[in-house]
Amino acid sequence: MSKGLIYILTGDGKGKTTAAFGLALRAAGHNKNVLIVQFVKSVEFKSGEVEFIQKLQTANCQLSNLIDVYTIGEGFVGIINDKKPKKLHAKKAQEAFLKMQKIIKKGKYDVLILDEINVAMKLKLLKIDEVVEFVKNKPKHLHVVLTGRSAPRKLINIADMVSEIKNIKHPFQKGILAQKGIDF
Ligand code: ATP
Ligand code: MG
Repeated sequence: MSKGLIYILTGDGKGKTTAAFGLALRAAGHNKNVLIVQFVKSVEFKSGEVEFIQKLQTANCQLSNLIDVYTIGEGFVGIINDKKPKKLHAKKAQEAFLKMQKIIKKGKYDVLILDEINVAMKLKLLKIDEVVEFVKNKPKHLHVVLTGRSAPRKLINIADMVSEIKNIKHPFQKGILAQKGIDF
């Protein structure tokens, strides 16, 4: 069995989550099973990529079972009218992290994408050490992709690939708001 690798997509430029979903498509194209767990995001606020995967599932498309997405957060932390206590965000992130580990142990998945997990660690919703521990002891065959700004040094050290997407310019800096279908 081939060895699964550890990939990190980090940096302050746009393209980390979309690259991870592109990778999920690529893996599914080779009939690999992909689990995507989204941290710090909310089920109420669905991005286009999640909408599309769910549309495939409701259309009963046979191939749709290759990509599963769990968005198990209490939504945005500290921004966009977030009035929820940090403790609640932390509890949700912990739950998501534990649930994900149980699911992964069952062995169905070839690729695991932990979207925005770097941000969850930065916000101290998850402990860096517990994520490092999981990644170090992951099933041998499993590829793990971790996304989000501010990837911690300890994870960078054990990763096989780290790409830092650097912001050169973004329309947001000109006051142009997020574009539907491009930014979410
Ligand atoms: P995307 O989801 O578009 O691939 P991302 O995952 O790299 O972006 P995040 O840090 O997760 O970026 O940011 C989430 C949102 O902020 C997305 O809507 C993204 O388009 C937008 N964004 C990303 N980089 C920047 C930036 N440098 N300035 C302003 N907005 C940004
Ligand atoms: Mg992202």
